[in-house]
Amino acid sequence: MTESALDKPLRDFPWLPPQKARQFERFGIVTIEDLLTHYPKRYEDRRTFDHFPRLESERPVCVCGTVLAVAVKRLRGRRIMVEVVLEEEQATALSPRLICRWFNVYHVQKMIAAGQKLIVFGKPKDRAGKLYIDHPEFEIIEGGELSIHVNRITPIYRLTEGITQRMIRAAVYRVLDTLDLAAIQDRLPPGLDPTPFGAALRQIHFPDSDAEREAAHRHLVLGEFFAMQLFIGAKRAESLSRPGQNHCGPGALMDRFHASLPFPLTGAQKRTIAEIRAALASTRPMNRLLHGDVGSGKTLVALSAMLLCVESGAQAALMAPTQILAEQHYLNCKRWLAPLGLNIALRTGSKRTESATPLFDHGAWLDSVVGKSGAPRPASPAGPQIIIGTHALLYEGSGLYNLGLAVIDEQHKFGVLQRARLIGQSSAPDVLVMTATPIPRTLTMTLYGDLDVSTLDEMPAHRGKIITALRPASKLPDAAAFIRKELESGRQAYIVYPLIEESAKLEAKAAAQEFEKWQKLLAPMRCELLHGRIDPVEKDAIMEKFRAGKAHALIATSVIEVGIDVPNATIMLIENAERFGLAQLHQLRGRVGRGTRKSWCILISDATDPPALEKLNTMEQTSDGFKIAEADLRLRGPGDILGTAQSGLPPLKLGNLLADQAWMRAARQAATSLFQLDPQLTRPEHRPFRDLITSQRKLTLAQIS
Ligand code: ADP
Ligand code: MG
Repeated sequence: MTESALDKPLRDFPWLPPQKARQFERFGIVTIEDLLTHYPKRYEDRRTFDHFPRLESERPVCVCGTVLAVAVKRLRGRRIMVEVVLEEEQATALSPRLICRWFNVYHVQKMIAAGQKLIVFGKPKDRAGKLYIDHPEFEIIEGGELSIHVNRITPIYRLTEGITQRMIRAAVYRVLDTLDLAAIQDRLPPGLDPTPFGAALRQIHFPDSDAEREAAHRHLVLGEFFAMQLFIGAKRAESLSRPGQNHCGPGALMDRFHASLPFPLTGAQKRTIAEIRAALASTRPMNRLLHGDVGSGKTLVALSAMLLCVESGAQAALMAPTQILAEQHYLNCKRWLAPLGLNIALRTGSKRTESATPLFDHGAWLDSVVGKSGAPRPASPAGPQIIIGTHALLYEGSGLYNLGLAVIDEQHKFGVLQRARLIGQSSAPDVLVMTATPIPRTLTMTLYGDLDVSTLDEMPAHRGKIITALRPASKLPDAAAFIRKELESGRQAYIVYPLIEESAKLEAKAAAQEFEKWQKLLAPMRCELLHGRIDPVEKDAIMEKFRAGKAHALIATSVIEVGIDVPNATIMLIENAERFGLAQLHQLRGRVGRGTRKSWCILISDATDPPALEKLNTMEQTSDGFKIAEADLRLRGPGDILGTAQSGLPPLKLGNLLADQAWMRAARQAATSLFQLDPQLTRPEHRPFRDLITSQRKLTLAQIS
């Protein structure tokens, strides 16, 4: 038997009534594999049950008892309560009874009857000496199938309407029974894990012991991770196999740029530029991540890379996630690169700044700027050498006639697939992805596993300190007084309030109110308002005013979250700070402390719930982006951060990116050595892995469509 046994649709099994098969299908369980990878959410050890509880407890109990009585009580309105009294087996007069209650769950009364044997699971509560469990998970035990449902470590599954525990459990049991488990192809390379795949499938559903279950769990998680890493490795192999070009000029242009800067490069900037330079010069296409905390100076590294590319005769593009950011990059480029006389174009949805000289003699320009060198002159392309725009540039591709380097800025949700799209252009450009959100290592090797990594792990010297303070809303007037003093001494401030997304009208109203409030609080200093609904031209004007110091405070939604760079701004006040995510707060804080002056980040919040407090306290205690990323991952869970759909990675059913980091490393290592041995997986024994990649690709496509 081959893998295809797992591809067989459930409805082909004669023992499964078609109507049940349809119910499974509606639940997304179509094939044998779907059923067998619908893993248990937990287990009950039904070899021995708990005793009936005598005290209430936070720990759930799992007990088995006989139904003494079922009562349906009418409550107010059409509401009902079903009350079931259970008695322990071999009960004596002194044995406690247990009362199970369901409110407004109408089907329960039809299912449970006196005399039945019932297994229930839940937290017991004490009410006046009687013990209750409200809304327990339950299962009725009938004769017959006892060996499947009790007297064992029993799997408990996630359910949906019309599907019961017993249905799933029985179906899984039957399927496992009919399959020739020993013949199922292993999905891990030899040596990574001793458990055979077939055995793991059985033991994850019907474990003989806890140890067997753990071994099965490990095997299947490794399998998921390995498949993911194969997929990533294949992507990488694919992009490496494309013909690339040397996109690196001699460097005179970059040297002139560096010499014009008012500050020295950090050691990390020098190192990463050297890494990128080598990759640009290689004829293998570059796919690289530039990873660095907020404010570590990624833009400078990107511009250096772009200059190297331009000097080689090719075009370079810089893509930002928002229009505001694209425009900021454009202004920076113009300012920084003006002495070089470069032809720079901005292309965003609403703006096109085409050059006045559409035909630009690249070769002649190079000669004029860096002088005639012995190096061969590139052909003379027409049009801008540097194009700056939003990510839409990726898809339009317009005006990119000779793209040598694409830099993608500030986009950690920019998934593997979108990247592939760009890289998929016929002549592969070199690609540099920059992310401001520090990502824990496990996520880097999945989300960015197809990329080489350069890390900016050093901040520019003489940065002002940022002091973070958490304050209740009642202290807002004090904070405002403090801010006004800072503004009076020439500094600038950001005031951020959470976005109200219900409607454009509400949003505008909230914005207007915020603005009015702060204008009063900060009078006579000048405030400006910025939010997502303001038209782009006006937005620019406002940003420009703020950048030029003509406005003292910018009242804004989190539109200013990424990348905005105004070194004179020293205060970031965030209202209702608990409503923002940790990574987002860190990004917002990164807007200040960019100059040499001391800066403040004031978090206003009245939150009292523990996760919110942990979040805000983390902000107060650390400004280390990597620590923040770890805490964020812990608080939100990896699913959220990976943003499954955007990540373009196949979904995980069992593996946990946080808890199972070591296994991810092992899987990655195994995949890497496999590709080293056989880059195209052409060997016959690697055929199953090729099939795995194909099926992963299908899963991913299904996910994003
Ligand atoms: P980010 O990595 O967050 O994108 P930026 O590239 O916006 O950071 O840089 C943040 C600020 O630091 C900018 O004002 C930039 O001009 C400045 N900067 C960059 N490199 C250095 C350096 N080596 N020394 C001093 N300031 C620098
Ligand atoms: Mg930046």
